[in-house]
Amino acid sequence: MDCIFCKIVEGTIPSKKVLENEHVVAFHDIQPAAPVHVLVIPKKHIASMNDVGQDDWGLMGEVLRAAQQVAQETGIAESGYRLVNNCGAEGGQVVYHLHVHVMGGEKLGPLNSK
Ligand code: 5GP
Ligand code: ZN
Repeated sequence: MDCIFCKIVEGTIPSKKVLENEHVVAFHDIQPAAPVHVLVIPKKHIASMNDVGQDDWGLMGEVLRAAQQVAQETGIAESGYRLVNNCGAEGGQVVYHLHVHVMGGEKLGPLNSK
């Protein structure tokens, strides 16, 4: 399967990792849209939110747990941050391996600015 994020999990494409455990990997976005912009992904290939199965909710909890940990480790937990998941064409998803963006380090604009 030709998936960039699976290759990051395997290590065949390099990334600046923030954390890794049995379930997830977190790494800096290659084109940061905020001073802190980290992506958290499950190691398992799940294409999008639409593809999360009944057995995957524990894993999704691990993704959120890792996002909380990333916020703490990058120093933005207290100042605040945003978690984003883009799903599908109109949601702006570009990479079809589910990921949560952890963004912060500055005052972020309102969501209605689109
Ligand atoms: P999406 O638009 O699918 O929610 O977000 C995909 C994100 O992945 C984008 O913010 C993009 O900058 C990031 N990205 C795409 N390719 C790579 C890569 O090879 N390495 C890293 N670290 N980030 C990537
Ligand atoms: Zn993948």
